[in-house]
Amino acid sequence: MAGQLALVAKLMINMHSLNTERAEEIRRVPLVYKINDGYKVVEEAVAVSGVMLKHYHFTTMVEYLRRDGGKLCPFCKRGIAIRMPSKRIPKSDLARILGVSENNKELERYYQHVQQGSEGDIISSCAGEDIHGFLRPDPPLRRESLVKFSWLLPSILSELEDPTMFTVVQHTRVIPNIPENLSEDAKQLQMPYPRGYGNGVFGFVSLANLELVGVPITGSGERVIDGNEKSKRQRAIIRSYAPLIGSVMGASMAKALPAYKTLEVMLVIVKNSPVSIPVPVHPMYDNYVNDTLKIFSSYRDLTKANVRVYTYGVRPSETYGLDIERVSRPLDVLMQAEEFLLG
Ligand SMILES: [Zn+2]
Repeated sequence: MAGQLALVAKLMINMHSLNTERAEEIRRVPLVYKINDGYKVVEEAVAVSGVMLKHYHFTTMVEYLRRDGGKLCPFCKRGIAIRMPSKRIPKSDLARILGVSENNKELERYYQHVQQGSEGDIISSCAGEDIHGFLRPDPPLRRESLVKFSWLLPSILSELEDPTMFTVVQHTRVIPNIPENLSEDAKQLQMPYPRGYGNGVFGFVSLANLELVGVPITGSGERVIDGNEKSKRQRAIIRSYAPLIGSVMGASMAKALPAYKTLEVMLVIVKNSPVSIPVPVHPMYDNYVNDTLKIFSSYRDLTKANVRVYTYGVRPSETYGLDIERVSRPLDVLMQAEEFLLG
């Protein structure tokens, strides 16, 4: 038995290398907030894309599946999430990227799937393509990701005078004794370099559809993996949220592990939903807790789905007729999801 889940997390994060999605590039976006007498536009809010959050979910998921012996293609096994190579790319190039011989059996099988496999062939042999989706350009075939993320966005900007909480710090690499007449290239081994850091209260939302694990969307609806493989994949989906609730996201973490505090977590678990569940309200908005509960309460009435809600650090003013349980530790929401959906 499985179902779907919707996660909301709100985190206080200071001096986190949030913005370096690409080297030296600062990621800031315009956002609109509601204030008492209208709306406020913040031109340059610090933000991290859903692609980055999804990447961190992916890398943790691969770690779980490698440990548990789950099926992974040669790229996902190495944590390389790329677009599926087109037919025009020779196998020898893929072999060079992977550092294996052209006759490598795993590569042979992968290359065959890339050339002509069905969605079922591809997802049966790799949990990465199954759970995080894929796009094959030629012949065209795609699978939508079963795990989706919003952007990580600031949630208290409407109340701040200067909402761009961003700092650039100069770091240095130092050679203690520089010999005379060193070449210019050698001198550059020591240099100052800037890094951007973000501060603030941030939030994100995510959806995961455990029902469709191992089920080709373009096929007959039959699952193409066995029960054991399905359980490994579903468990990995749920557990891979743990680092994100603990603020593991963004680049350059070796220079700046985040100074974070998990403020609020809300997990909505839905069983027997006939279609994809709604997206929870993003914690960048005031009253997101009650607004999310209202959405899922009416969704339950509409579809007769079985809905449960687990919260950490959140006190809704009303239940809207939903089963809501408060937990005392942030990651307990994930334990509850495992028990309710996979137990
Ligand atoms: Zn893969």
